[in-house]
Amino acid sequence: MKIRSIRSHILRVPLGDKVFYSSQARFPERNSYLVRIETDTGLVGWGEGGQYGPPEPVAACIDHVLGPKLIGRDPTEPVRIWDELYNFSRDFGQKGTYVEALSALDIALWDIAGKAVGLPVWKLLGGRFRDSIKAYATGCYYPEAFNDLPAVLRDLEREASGYRDAGFQFLKVKVGLLDLRTDVKRLAVIREAIGPNIGLLVDANHAYSAASAIRMGRLMEPLDVHFFEEPVVPEDRDGYRRVRRENPIPVAGGECEFTRYGFRDLIGGGCVDIAQPDLAVCGGFTAFIQILALAGAYGVMVVPHVWGSGIAVATALQAIAAIPPSPHTANPVPLLNEPVIEFDRKHNPLRDDLLEEQITLVDGRLPVPDGPGLGVTVRESALTRFASR
Ligand code: CA
Repeated sequence: MKIRSIRSHILRVPLGDKVFYSSQARFPERNSYLVRIETDTGLVGWGEGGQYGPPEPVAACIDHVLGPKLIGRDPTEPVRIWDELYNFSRDFGQKGTYVEALSALDIALWDIAGKAVGLPVWKLLGGRFRDSIKAYATGCYYPEAFNDLPAVLRDLEREASGYRDAGFQFLKVKVGLLDLRTDVKRLAVIREAIGPNIGLLVDANHAYSAASAIRMGRLMEPLDVHFFEEPVVPEDRDGYRRVRRENPIPVAGGECEFTRYGFRDLIGGGCVDIAQPDLAVCGGFTAFIQILALAGAYGVMVVPHVWGSGIAVATALQAIAAIPPSPHTANPVPLLNEPVIEFDRKHNPLRDDLLEEQITLVDGRLPVPDGPGLGVTVRESALTRFASR
């Protein structure tokens, strides 16, 4: 079997009146870069590359540089191909666009490798530890009118109660756009709405200096926060270490980190309690396996980040199914020793309407697909509908 064609798809959906803010930016649209690899036997694999930046550079990287190298190659050797492509781009692409492009290709190759033998990717990774995964809702972003505090608090109350009623047992919310005390007020309203039994996770999208993050961690302590995600900018390793040492809440991070080398510095450097590689960013399944081994040796839990299209969610389901409980226990408990999956709840048709299969919450969990490869099918009509113009 040989790779016959590689095609980029840039998908885009304007958010209209559903625009929202994180601490870093206004989000006027959702977009995704997808790659479709087809073999001479007619098998098709899909991958996603990048999560945060514009998709066009990833497309250029695949269309003009990495993609042409793969035509005629055996697609069922993803680790070997990863190694070749990374060695090719090392001198100019150790992080960023090139690794995101490599991620998309790698995910698509593992999808094909699974389809070629009729097995799901989790089986190629060595087996699954669970057939469904506890999901956490990601929501409670900032609205356009984020300074209208009474309205913000009223809407947060309603949104957070909705996640509780939908059966989520964990909720991740945003902080960092407003001053510390106002954000703590937002969190208190959310905690009140969800009650004491739902795990609360907090994500600053690296809005703080180390000193502010430490203060924020102390202010949040009475609200029983499970982890504090991206307290400081990803380059600030010393800041991460300080926050981890001096704030009472476990520290999570890694969605903007790349390959085993980046995670060696993050995990080996003592920066995080929870590592969050994003498979569409860090280098696909191949990098994920390496990062998982590294984290296991350091006693750091791996909880992949996922924020993209249905392909990114399917990819994360396959990967998380194969993460061993860490540390081992006879009764794994979510986020104590059992991984969970991020389930973004902001409006995103690229996540909800791209696949033939519906990825639906059942008792607070997402089922792991059993079909070959990623176990999902892309709707051709959705590709046309969401194609960037
Ligand atoms: Ca995040």
